[in-house]
Amino acid sequence: MALIVQKFGGTSVGNPERIKNVAKRVAKYRAQGDQVVVVVSAMSGVTDNLIKLAKEIMPLPSEREMDMLLATGEQTTIALTAMALHSVNVSAISLTGAQAGIVTDGVHTKAKIQNITPKEVHSMLDAGNVVIVAGFQGQTSQGQITTLGRGGSDLTAIALAAALKADLCQIYTDVDGVYTADPRLVPNARKLSEISYDEMLELAGAGAKVMQSRSVEFAKKFGVVFEVRSSLNENPGTIVKEETKSMEDVVIRGVALDKNQAKITLAAVPDKPGLAARIFKALADASINVDMIVQTASHGSGSKATDISFTLEKADLLKAQKTLDAIKNDTGVREVIADEKIGKLSIVGVGMRSHSGVAAKMFETLAAEGVNIDMISTSEIKISVVIDLAKGESAMKAVHAAFLG
Ligand code: ASP
Ligand code: MG
Repeated sequence: MALIVQKFGGTSVGNPERIKNVAKRVAKYRAQGDQVVVVVSAMSGVTDNLIKLAKEIMPLPSEREMDMLLATGEQTTIALTAMALHSVNVSAISLTGAQAGIVTDGVHTKAKIQNITPKEVHSMLDAGNVVIVAGFQGQTSQGQITTLGRGGSDLTAIALAAALKADLCQIYTDVDGVYTADPRLVPNARKLSEISYDEMLELAGAGAKVMQSRSVEFAKKFGVVFEVRSSLNENPGTIVKEETKSMEDVVIRGVALDKNQAKITLAAVPDKPGLAARIFKALADASINVDMIVQTASHGSGSKATDISFTLEKADLLKAQKTLDAIKNDTGVREVIADEKIGKLSIVGVGMRSHSGVAAKMFETLAAEGVNIDMISTSEIKISVVIDLAKGESAMKAVHAAFLG
């Protein structure tokens, strides 16, 4: 008998039919004698709708009340899922995050889990129930309802699996697992049977988002092995775990294309101490997340200057332009140039550490495709390049073919 945590995302519980399917799947595991804890998200679209409703009342609602509101999404699905299990004669009980013993700090709308005391979960399991826990929510030690940030049900599942010392943690979603590339863009992309936490995190940062990154970080910290798999079929998914020696035999695990990036170039930034600090402090104060940063070598005679380029989320571009225009004269920057038509293409793999020539091979492949490289950045297990958005997909296919084809 195993203790299994199964998490079902919004699309997997998106309508009554799907909720009944979830119940059938859970019932099958239960029939094998396993103990099952189910974590569910709100039905797809529900959280977004609740946010929209709140904004119709006022533009900046109280964050405490937002949590009160958003927590109802998951409370709906836990009750419906319990009923669906009852309807197939399986004992089941639903618990809110608070009832499941999930204690968080008091940072409303992005609370961090402080500890989990799963006493109630254990006693309900021991009484023969499937226990259904509301994802995404917890409560402070003062009894205030909190939520864990968008996509937070993943975190609930991973953290519960750690606290319960579960034998297995399955994250059910609408894709079959983690792929070598987005199969909608690269038809011969393959599903990976395993991937390391770090590779998964780098791929997410590169634009291949399967799960909330915070939950993968949490899993890494507490060594929670989990499987990402589809709730729509029986195919085995992708196991996410600590890196093993054999993982290094594969040079590249995956390729990702992020089309949601934009680039800003600051032309002729006076080459003086403190200017980069001022520029990026202004962006940070405006809560703008900057990704790649490249500064050219100093140029010009007399008063020297450099060019600084950086990438950011497209959604932040206007805000960033405003922020930079406001300090332009003050800092002596000549021009702020924005470019929305870029793509960030990345290759990720722990095998990069022990194989040489990976960057050269990527750049040669791009050259053969006639793709110009605009910016380059690397980490120990990732190489990213900024290229023309129009060439993004063909470049991705070529790089995938070169390393993984
Ligand atoms: N319902 C929440 C959201 O949409 C949490 C989740 O789905 O994981 O962000
Ligand atoms: Mg979700």
